[in-house]
Amino acid sequence: MLSAQAFTFNFFSENTYVIINDKKQCWFVDPGMCDAEENRAMNAFIQDKQLSPQGIINTHAHIDHILGVQELKDKYKIPFGMHETELPVLNMAKASAAMFGVNITTVPAPTYFIKEGQPLKLGDDTLQVFYTPGHSPGSISFYYPEGNWVLAGDVLFQGSIGRTDLPGGNFDTLISSIRTHLFTLPDHTTVLSGHGEATTIGEEKRYNPFLR
Ligand SMILES: [Zn+2]
Repeated sequence: MLSAQAFTFNFFSENTYVIINDKKQCWFVDPGMCDAEENRAMNAFIQDKQLSPQGIINTHAHIDHILGVQELKDKYKIPFGMHETELPVLNMAKASAAMFGVNITTVPAPTYFIKEGQPLKLGDDTLQVFYTPGHSPGSISFYYPEGNWVLAGDVLFQGSIGRTDLPGGNFDTLISSIRTHLFTLPDHTTVLSGHGEATTIGEEKRYNPFLR
């Protein structure tokens, strides 16, 4: 059984998740640690829980979601996966970092590309991958049916949706991604978002002003 532990990092209050299985193996999702203190907090958690990191998987490559990737890649010698169509966003990372006054020395290179429909296996547990573009061109969501949760990055938020005014964003594409891949999940599915509180599919179907 997988569990997801949330952390909130950096000046964008970005949610980083650690997904953990029964054998204490884990994945990092969207690691956003931006300084020594945040890196220490993450490493302390890994040590305390005696976790064995297996990889980094990203929902997308906006700057606030990738700030901690290189540090983890180097420290644990683990692969970094994301969707191939997100590469243009990753390649803009230095420029976008500079825009926000952040300095990143190394843009983390993906080790492999994650594809829609290609299951991601952590030990015996499997995450399903949905291609959910619109907020960014290569946004993907990770669905764990056994735990009734979906990790949706910046696609869907409690009472809101991801912004679509950044390069590669598209409002209609985003709405379509949500309706096709997220709103077809059971109502009681918990949505773990890239910012803010968790919500459920049912709550967003009823109350989200962008989707009613
Ligand atoms: Zn984003």
